[in-house]
Amino acid sequence: MTHIETTSRDTVRAGTTPGRSGRLGRRAVAMASIAGIAVLAAACAGGSAAPSGSSSGKSIVVTYSVLGAVVKDLVGSAATVTVLMPNGSDPHDWAPSAKDIETMTRADLLVENGLNLEGGMGDAFNQAEKAGVKRFIASDHISVRHVGAGEGIDTSADQVAGAPDPHLWMDPLTMKDVVAALAPELRADLGIDVSARAADLEARLTALNDQLVAILNTVPAPERSLVTGHESLGYFAQRYGYKLIGAIIPSLSTQAESSAASLAALEAKIRAAGVKAVFTEVGTDASVAQAVGTDTGAKVVELTTHALPPDGSYFTFMTNIANLVAENLK
Ligand SMILES: [Zn+2]
Repeated sequence: MTHIETTSRDTVRAGTTPGRSGRLGRRAVAMASIAGIAVLAAACAGGSAAPSGSSSGKSIVVTYSVLGAVVKDLVGSAATVTVLMPNGSDPHDWAPSAKDIETMTRADLLVENGLNLEGGMGDAFNQAEKAGVKRFIASDHISVRHVGAGEGIDTSADQVAGAPDPHLWMDPLTMKDVVAALAPELRADLGIDVSARAADLEARLTALNDQLVAILNTVPAPERSLVTGHESLGYFAQRYGYKLIGAIIPSLSTQAESSAASLAALEAKIRAAGVKAVFTEVGTDASVAQAVGTDTGAKVVELTTHALPPDGSYFTFMTNIANLVAENLK
């Protein structure tokens, strides 16, 4: 299953319509996203949420699909792993149903991304904790990236410089830290030993990183400029030596808004840096991205930074992204 593509064609071209704010556009996108999520939720019923049998009888619930893929690789058949958010939904904009909350409160362990990625799940986390469910928060076990630190990116819009970035899955070595921390917790909390699988997975994540270095090093250094839908590629840029030029929504969340002023500033930076491609994502207004592309001459390329590919593999997910970035910036 691929991710939602929002295509609200009636949205204002906020970047090219002086005097009109992007607020209307964001609202139109939010409505399109809700419709898309409803369709996906229907399509996914009985799909990713259906647990399979396990050897321990223990139940692990993971909030988000990309994190869930790595947890499934780690756990194998030692416990059931259930992913709450349908693959392709926007994690910044997802709230659990009563049934999802019931699933969470019945789990033995809840695995979360943290850093407010799951912005709509705070009450549900508290309910699960009150029910005695153990919680593992991935971002507690990594070196957290903070926005703008030495990156020279524009943080003057609706995002605070120094804010912690939740997009930790965009770096395989950060995910390796998550695996290294989760494996002993599974033993302590659930009494299951996945140490052999952890060693194998950590080795594969190291090899994946080497593979991504090789792909991304094919882009000449001056061309390594990233413009995205929202600020999702901070860990990726940091790991692979790419520069963050800006984002259509200048925020760590898709739930913030573009403005005519922020889009004009972004277009100026795209022209100045000679950026070849603008990467749209879940939650990006397609018509605004297209307008930025038309105005600046940059290609508009869809990048699935928040959804797994059809094979459900984190490894395919990352290599697809690296290949698309490299192909479109060279
Ligand atoms: Zn995001």
